[in-house]
Order: sequence, then C-alpha cells, then structure tokens
Amino acid sequence: MMVHSIYIFGLIDNFLVLALYRRIIVLIQPIGFVDSSILERLALDLTSKFNFFKTYISDITLPLLDRAYNKRRMQYNSSLLLHYLSNISGAENYDRILGVVDVDIYADELNFVFGEAILNGRFALISLFRLRPEFYGYGVDLELLFERALKEAVHELGHTLGLTHCPDRRCVMHFSNSILDTDYKSYEFCSNCRFKILDVVLKPKV
Ligand SMILES: [Zn+2]
Ligand SMILES: [Zn+2]
Repeated sequence: MMVHSIYIFGLIDNFLVLALYRRIIVLIQPIGFVDSSILERLALDLTSKFNFFKTYISDITLPLLDRAYNKRRMQYNSSLLLHYLSNISGAENYDRILGVVDVDIYADELNFVFGEAILNGRFALISLFRLRPEFYGYGVDLELLFERALKEAVHELGHTLGLTHCPDRRCVMHFSNSILDTDYKSYEFCSNCRFKILDVVLKPKV
C-alpha cells in the first residue's frame, strides 16, 4: 500500500490550518474506449485543485462488460460496472478506483446517472456520455466537458469519503438531477462538506 503524507498550509473559513494530511491515491480506470486526453486532464485537475488527491491513470483499458448492457434500454447498468472495478488486479495498491466510461449508464429506477459510488467504499464510476455538450445539441466544448467531468468525479469520490448529498446547490455534493444542476454547482465542497473531508483525510486510514 502506497502511503503519501503531506503538510499543507491552508486557510479554511478564516482558520489557518497546518496539518499532516494523508493523501488519497486514486487510480483512474477507463472501461471501454475513453479519450486519453480527457483522462489526463481529469487526473491533473483532481490533483491541482485538491491537494489531498494523488492520481494515476491505468495503462490498461478494461473492456466494457457485455452483461452490464441492457439491450432494451440501450444503456449499461452502472452498479454492475462499479462491481466490475473490484476485479482489477493491483486494486489493493490504491485507496480509490475511479472508473470512467463514455457510454450511457443507468441505475435501478433512474433513467440515467452521471455516476455512482459506494458510500465509504473504494470504488466510484463516472460516465462522460451525458456530460458532452453534443448530447444536448450544442457544439463540442472540451473545456465545459472537462469541468463537468471534474465535478462528477469529485462528487463520486466524495461519496467514497463518506459524504452524502448536500442541500447547498453550489456544493459539489449536491445531487445532479440534470446537467443544469451540474453546471450550476461548483467543483468545490461547501464549508460543511470540507470539514467532513478534512476529518477523513486527517485520519491515518481512509
Ligand atoms: Zn451523489
Ligand atoms: Zn456541501
């Protein structure tokens, strides 16, 4: 198990914080074809905007799981894909595994989901499919896609760190019912959620 710790100075709600943080090692795992430039940008954004994340991109692409495909819905079952991540060899070397797909995904009663994660677990999944402006009839806008991917990745990783949905519509942990919610919220945690995250990363084990 890789353990990286780091001292961070920071101002949090006007309190100067100096603490020994434990870095959360995240493996970004493509499932099916995912443009590598999107994965690279996501890895960079996660580490540059959140100093407690350290990211690696898997050099192996997992094939899409045939049995997760629902022909009638023409979508993949996100829970099955999430479970599929637990079979990755070497998964134990990372604190969190973030699966990324570029296909449409759904969960149980929901028409679609942007992602799914196991609360307090090690596995999270996001789909780029409905984050693309083209899906809504707009032109290609890579910067917007990167921003949306970051928000959804932070949201799902937040669940793995024990955070549930937040009522603050600007907080990254707010539930996105549609892309409008994703665009309205920021990629950052509100002060309440930030304190909960600090509580987790300050502990020796996450
Ligand atoms: Zn959520
Ligand atoms: Zn919040």
